[in-house]
Amino acid sequence: MLHDLHTHSTASDGTLTPSDLVARAHAQGVRVLALTDHDSTEGLAEASAAAQALGVRLVPGVEISVTWRGKTVHVIGLHVDAANAVLQQGLARLRGFRDWRAEEIGRRLAEYGIADAYQGARRYARGNIVSRTHFARFLVEQGRAREVRDVYPYYLTEGKPGYVAGEWAALEEAVVWIRGAGGQAVIAHPARYKLNETKFELLLDEFKQHGGAAMEVLSGSHTPDDCARMARHAQRHGLLASQGTDYHGPEHTWLELGRLPAMPEGCVPVWQHWQ
Ligand code: AMP
Ligand code: MN
Ligand code: MN
Ligand code: MN
Repeated sequence: MLHDLHTHSTASDGTLTPSDLVARAHAQGVRVLALTDHDSTEGLAEASAAAQALGVRLVPGVEISVTWRGKTVHVIGLHVDAANAVLQQGLARLRGFRDWRAEEIGRRLAEYGIADAYQGARRYARGNIVSRTHFARFLVEQGRAREVRDVYPYYLTEGKPGYVAGEWAALEEAVVWIRGAGGQAVIAHPARYKLNETKFELLLDEFKQHGGAAMEVLSGSHTPDDCARMARHAQRHGLLASQGTDYHGPEHTWLELGRLPAMPEGCVPVWQHWQ
């Protein structure tokens, strides 16, 4: 059974609709798919209907933005009940911050000499949450970079003209919301965080103490060496192992749904006890 437990749709910063994402996952042999949009569960109903029609098992998920010791960390919720009021209140608060931040990014880019970025990003977001990805697409359109991935290091990360510091959920809040909604909390793409070894150990310890269940050992953004290192961390901290591509759409030609290496020996998969 091929699992891909970290993906995005047009409900956040992916480019495929929930239905098209499910269809592509099915065509790629994925049989258990989690839709994990940023701070939103809006795509889940459509994805669930599409999955049922194709015989794909859809895991309702979300990727929650967290600020931990001044850094942004992403926590995935798997099997969350999207009807849970506390979870939805929490996500609504994060989307409120996103809306303010989008305007602030627009103001900062305007000061830097790039006009109408807020409106441009909103156009790419099409009424859904506004992510830095949507700003990146607008800046590519404006000829500021050749590719979306080239935009972040020049415009949208710390120290750059369009950077606004995150004020997201606390780590404990994200875990409480996910668990309260019946889900399992998973640290997303752990090798991406620029934390030294001591800080990283502390993150995993705190996460585990709050009731976190798992961490992504296999991620579309991990090198083979990252996967091996994260497998050791998961085992040492008693965390289950998850896997997901963090798929955002076919434009990212270096990634495909379900395409991940084998789970390292000794890891306990997060889906071990799923019915
Ligand atoms: P946001 O959650 O709005 O701050 O946007 C972050 C999103 O931008 C991530 O989920 C990725 O999809 C995308 N992204 C891609 N590369 C980078 C990068 N180098 N730094 C930050 N975000 C990136
Ligand atoms: Mn994203
Ligand atoms: Mn992420
Ligand atoms: Mn993601």
